[in-house]
Amino acid sequence: MHKKPSSSKIKELICAKVFYFAAVYSASINRISVRDQKSRWGSCSKKGNLNFNFRIIFLPGLLFDYVVVHEICHLKEFSHSRKFWGLVEKQIPDYKEIRKKLRNYKITRSNIIECRGSESN
Ligand SMILES: [Zn+2]
Repeated sequence: MHKKPSSSKIKELICAKVFYFAAVYSASINRISVRDQKSRWGSCSKKGNLNFNFRIIFLPGLLFDYVVVHEICHLKEFSHSRKFWGLVEKQIPDYKEIRKKLRNYKITRSNIIECRGSESN
């Protein structure tokens, strides 16, 4: 069980990664929000506002990267088109595997995250 860091520390960690990948993709962000969301890891609005679930910092590193890259790529390509996945693939070549792994992580109310699947692979 992880100890939950302060919310300002969490936001700092998430923003650092968002800014890193935004620079990689030359994407411009309007606003970043970090929330206690119940059902999603992240989302992106057409205005360029990104929302992230604070729990993403507790995911294994590559999954955390993937969630951030996914939303950043929506700033360039709003739909889940072939072009969109091509952008994701540039930074996360094995994104298909990572998406599968991410499905093993469930957002729960009390716990930070819960892992249903095996973490060994
Ligand atoms: Zn998406």
